[in-house]
Amino acid sequence: MPTTTPSFLSPNPQRYYYHQPIKFHHSSYTPSSATTCTMPHWPRMEIASSRHRRKDKVLVIMGATGSGKSRLSVELAKLFPCFEIINSDKIQVYRGLDITTNKIPFHQRNNVPHHLLGDVDPSHGEFSPSDFRLHAGDLISDISSRRKLPIIVGGSNSFLHALLVERFNPESNVFEDESSPSISSDLRYKCCFLWMDISFPVLSEYLLKRVDDMFDSGMVDELAEFYKPGSDNRTGLRKAIGVPEFDRFFKQYPPAGPIQDEVHNPMREGAYQEAVKAIKDNTCQLAKRQIGKILRLKRAGWDLRRLDATEAFRSVLMSDSHGGDGGGEEFSDIWKKQVLEPSVKIVKRFLME
Ligand code: ATP
Repeated sequence: MPTTTPSFLSPNPQRYYYHQPIKFHHSSYTPSSATTCTMPHWPRMEIASSRHRRKDKVLVIMGATGSGKSRLSVELAKLFPCFEIINSDKIQVYRGLDITTNKIPFHQRNNVPHHLLGDVDPSHGEFSPSDFRLHAGDLISDISSRRKLPIIVGGSNSFLHALLVERFNPESNVFEDESSPSISSDLRYKCCFLWMDISFPVLSEYLLKRVDDMFDSGMVDELAEFYKPGSDNRTGLRKAIGVPEFDRFFKQYPPAGPIQDEVHNPMREGAYQEAVKAIKDNTCQLAKRQIGKILRLKRAGWDLRRLDATEAFRSVLMSDSHGGDGGGEEFSDIWKKQVLEPSVKIVKRFLME
């Protein structure tokens, strides 16, 4: 952890959260002995005499947008209080647009320290994969030095790649450049990867519903406040899905008052629906690309442990189409059985290693 705050990291108290003691909250799910967190034990003498650098342990939760990574990370941190969370979504690192970028709300964080989540001042330009490697790397060292463990959570695989590979070349984008060398599986941490997977048709149906929920939560008002005529939407937070799509709309219909007041204008309503549709399409495209990148990492030899949340997500969709009766409960039960319990087993083993 650097002793001074870099200029683009705003003085957000969240960033210093980890200096506070972490309260342990019992989850409704308590697998036998999961609450006893086996702290990493590294015999110092052995390390000092070893010719090899001791690798810090890192738990990584990956998956497409909307796959439930944040929920899993908090559930695991509740069960194993040694964990602190580092966000690896390249848009969620910025301060602002909390609804549009889908940041996990404070009340759902359960006092678990979250780092690099809304910490970066968006006016300081792009937070690059190299920046992420540097700052998340410092955070991992700091967390490990306090004998805790980081969970890296987020959908940006270029950030994960930049952070985790032993030798990182900031000049090459391994996911996009055809000419770039193949992805390395030589990693600088001892990693345990949990991959939240959901069949794509189910995930995309869920994503459409999630976008509707985001609108119900006030996404348009948030975007209207963020709107700056003539701004360049090609960097940083302005790239967030929702910003370019609604800038086009606000250019035609400037956000003067509450949106709902004017929905009777059919032209305006048409342009609004077009923006909503573009957001839905782009979100599904993002998920598809993210899954493609995860599969590439897997093919490159990254040892991803797949957790299939398809059935749990299907139950949410089914309950919605049947008026929402009891779906929450069913979702939780299936999710605990098919996602949380296998994750806990994997994590326990990892902590014991
Ligand atoms: P990477 O390529 O680094 O693995 P990624 O999968 O997060 O990243 P991209 O494919 O680069 O994302 O992103 C596609 C578009 O989706 C970009 O415009 C990006 O800014 C946007 N995007 C990514 N994550 C979010 C998010 N959490 N909220 C809103 N928009 C997002």
